[in-house]
Amino acid sequence: MLRKDSVRVRFAPSPTGHLHIGGLRSAIFNWLFARHHNGSFLLRIEDTDLERSKQEYTDSILASFAWMQIDWDEPLVIQSQRINRHREIAAQLLAEGKAYYCACTQEEVVARLSQVAGFDPQFIKYDGYCKTRKLTAGAIRFAIPESTTTVEWNDLIRGTISIGHDQLDDFIIVRSDGTPMYNFVVVIDDADMRISHVIRGEEHIANTPKQILLYQACNFLLPEFAHLPMILGPDGSKLSKRDAATGVFEYKQQGYLHQALFNYLVRLGWAHGDQEVFTKQQMIEYFSLDHVGKKGAIFDQNKLDWINGVYLRETPDQELLDLILKDVCPTLRSDVPQWHDASLLLLINIYKQRAKTVAELVSDIKALYKKPAAFESADIAQWITADAIVHLKELNTVLGEIKTFTADEITAKLKEWTKLKNIKIVAIAQPLRISLLGKSSGPSVFELMAVVGKHETLERIAHLLQSVEK
Ligand code: GLU
Repeated sequence: MLRKDSVRVRFAPSPTGHLHIGGLRSAIFNWLFARHHNGSFLLRIEDTDLERSKQEYTDSILASFAWMQIDWDEPLVIQSQRINRHREIAAQLLAEGKAYYCACTQEEVVARLSQVAGFDPQFIKYDGYCKTRKLTAGAIRFAIPESTTTVEWNDLIRGTISIGHDQLDDFIIVRSDGTPMYNFVVVIDDADMRISHVIRGEEHIANTPKQILLYQACNFLLPEFAHLPMILGPDGSKLSKRDAATGVFEYKQQGYLHQALFNYLVRLGWAHGDQEVFTKQQMIEYFSLDHVGKKGAIFDQNKLDWINGVYLRETPDQELLDLILKDVCPTLRSDVPQWHDASLLLLINIYKQRAKTVAELVSDIKALYKKPAAFESADIAQWITADAIVHLKELNTVLGEIKTFTADEITAKLKEWTKLKNIKIVAIAQPLRISLLGKSSGPSVFELMAVVGKHETLERIAHLLQSVEK
């Protein structure tokens, strides 16, 4: 029977590694589903694999949630603390004859199966050897009810899924050392947490029939199931570290904004028409599993960069500076000691108009601080003509006359001077940009000159002239 009360969903990471973006996307979909339905979003740490689970990973997963500003309702559930409850249900299933002890080793099972014609070593299906032996110790296996022909459910994303009896065997629910297995504990925990919808990655489809049989054996109300499509790399295979950073924290360090990553991941598998940028409120309002696709979603770095740029331009400069100093480059102030925060804020404002990440802002700022180590040769060939050299030499005096070296004063002075000389402003703006940055592409040069200051601007012009006249 299906559970039909309020919407309660969960995200259940195993603390055997840092949170990766596939997991984060599942968490986001669950969170939006809960918020859309005014339901609850719960978090459970699945740490029953004691050898591979580490506290540092739990801390790191929670820190990723904090960074992404994904909140959860009710206290965190720690699976290992529920071991007595898991044992209680195991004992109940044993007492009811729905589970049995098994003493077979994998080798023994394989040795027996290999005697049978058509044995497939890829699918070791337990042969039920211990089912009638009435052992009192060993691993505990779930006895698939004899009446089972198929297990079927209506997946909210993929439609009807049916798994035949031949695909299932009496699987282990508690290892011989007493530790319970994933498929068993997940059912008990989801049932006790009154989870109404299990929304998780499609790699769990093969687990779902086993879990459904356990729900039935335990007389628990069934949740709905929804299996999300995988995130794929550009070649259509499973996303790997080669294709993209997979750890959530890598995005933080690389200067992505959490709002942008959230927005990007929501669109990975879910669509609302062709809208790309959403407020949180809109995502909550529009989100529905009906618009989650079945096909794998291809990770597109360019799109993530584009969305991040959109959010970057909307973020106040002071907020970006605070974020740089906190997460991306805590040493920024001492890396550019001549510049005060006012200059940094101005540069952030200038550079965020075209940057894709906060890390790019930092490298733009640091690059401007240093004299160019080299000049782009194509730019030199195009812009540093004989005329330009004459102009740059004259500019030394003209710029030297400006009292307060602000962008407005520089612009006014250079407009006046180019008019007098009857030359286009670009004919000097480009050579000036090359002297400042080493290349002709970049933001408004007069603003950059104001930040760099009069003395340094003049030095950079001299440096360019020296290098072309060599
Ligand atoms: N701990 C499991 C995982 O990390 C959770 C699976 C589930 O959501 O049921 O894959």
